[in-house]
Parts: sequence; C-alpha cells; structure tokens
Amino acid sequence: MEIRPTAELIDYTPDPIKNVAIAARLCYSKDGARDLEKKMSRQDMEKLVKKVVELGHHSTLEHTYFYFHIECSRVTSHQLVRQRIGTSYSQRSQRYVEEDNFSYITPPSIMAKPALQKKYKEWMQKGQEFYQELLNNNIPAEDARFVLPTVKTNLVVSFNARSLYHFFSLRCCTRAQWEIRSIARQMLKQVKKIAPVLFENAGAPCEVSGECPEGKLSCGKVVKLKNGGN
Ligand SMILES: Cc1cc2nc3c(=O)[nH]c(=O)nc-3n(C[C@H](O)[C@H](O)[C@H](O)COP(=O)(O)OP(=O)(O)OC[C@H]3O[C@@H](n4cnc5c(N)ncnc54)[C@H](O)[C@@H]3O)c2cc1C
Repeated sequence: MEIRPTAELIDYTPDPIKNVAIAARLCYSKDGARDLEKKMSRQDMEKLVKKVVELGHHSTLEHTYFYFHIECSRVTSHQLVRQRIGTSYSQRSQRYVEEDNFSYITPPSIMAKPALQKKYKEWMQKGQEFYQELLNNNIPAEDARFVLPTVKTNLVVSFNARSLYHFFSLRCCTRAQWEIRSIARQMLKQVKKIAPVLFENAGAPCEVSGECPEGKLSCGKVVKLKNGGN
C-alpha cells in the first residue's frame, strides 16, 4: 500500500510559554517558580519568551517537550535519528513485528513517471512476496527483513523546543531531502499553532533571518525572499 509521510503532534507540555518564561525569569529573580507563575501576566510571559528567542537564550526552551507520531520511510527515519540532542525515539521493531500490512512511500520524482511508478510498485510487491516466502519457511522476521525494500516505519519522537529549533533550521531548508523536509514542515506548522510566540523564529534560516548559510550550495530562495517572493 502506498502512503504519504506524516507527522502528527500527539502531546506537548501543557503550557510551553509558561515553562519557558518562568525558567527565563527565575535566572534573574529572587522568587521561586510558584511565585513567578502568580506574579507574571500572560502578556509578561509572552513578551519574555519573544525576547529569549530573539536573544538566543535557548537553554530555557529545553523546559518544554513536543511528542509526535511519525510515519515515514526507513530512509527518512534513518536521517531523523541523527539528531541526538534533546530528542528521544521509539521505533517499531522489524524483529518483533512482521511486515504483514506492507506499506511504502513513493518519491514524487517516480510518481511523476507512470511507467516507472508501475515498475516501482511491482518491485515493492516482489520484495514483500519474497519476505513472506522466507517467513513461511520459518525464517525469523529479524532475518527475513533483510530482503525488504524501503518500507514504511512508525516512530514516536519527543523533542524539546530547543532541539526542534535546530531540527527545523536543518530540515525545513530546501537542501534537506524532500521526505524529511515534508515531515519537518508538518511538525513546524503544528507547533506554531500551539505556541506561535515560541516558534515565531523557527524554520529554514532564509525564512527566519533572510540569510542562507549554504554558500555555493544555496538554492537561491533567499534572493527570491529578499525580492518579496516566496
Ligand atoms: C542537508 C543535509 C545533508 C546531510 N548529509 C549528510 C551526509 O551526507 N552524511 C551524514 O553522515 N550526515 C548528513 N547529514 C546529517 C548531519 O550531519 C547531522 O548528523 C544531522 O543533521 C544532525 O545534526 P546535529 O549533529 O547538529 O544535531 P544533534 O545531534 O541534535 O546535535 C545538536 C548540536 O549539539 C552539538 N553536538 C552534538 N553531538 C556532539 C558531539 N559529539 N561533539 C560536539 N558537539 C556535539 C553540536 O553543536 C550539534 O549541532 C545531513 C544533514 C543535512 C541537514
């Protein structure tokens, strides 16, 4: 079955703004966290979070977490788990869970060529059939999986807000591979909805600062943005 890569925000720190604001204010106050919570208005909190984000006092962003369910190819989960700091992962096991509901992602470049898409689908089906044949012959799932083509996988991932900032700056950029970029963009959209002040400056560097760190490898989008395009 052909599927699309998806990221769904499942859970998050109930009040991300409050946690960050209290952490930031506590550094420069004699009050404890409970007192600060009582003393600070919503407006104070939002103003402080905005300032903290702009100034780069980002350690305070670590006091919030966002928990996602992600469905993507194993190509992309491999890239995702390279982010080591401020993240936790749990991924469905191919040793203990047999791939009976065989799902996979088709890259847009292949989808655009119907003849190749058809071959791609056949290739995927052949992989599944051989996998099934191995299982039917009592080969353990942990060994049968060696013949699987790049199938879909499921993960739950927790990021703190600081780590999300870093992830978005790397993976919302057009230099990132399309599938992980799609995942990152879906995640950014959802966290922006929950905590717009916190994630106001999150995204690809060109969208956030108008600058591109990619040098000669730049896609040129920054020039378009500077000229009022998107
Ligand atoms: C466009 C693109 C192309 C890529 N291509 C490749 C590729 O060809 N091959 C490849 O292997 N990877 C590639 N990557 C993955 C990349 O190298 C990183 O592994 C991945 O993006 C995670 O970034 P990170 O290490 O900064 O994040 P994290 O692991 O979350 O680390 C966050 C930050 O903590 C610090 N840190 C973490 N660990 C250490 C440490 N051990 N020592 C010192 N400081 C540390 C660093 O400042 C780091 O930026 C690519 C990534 C992108 C976005």
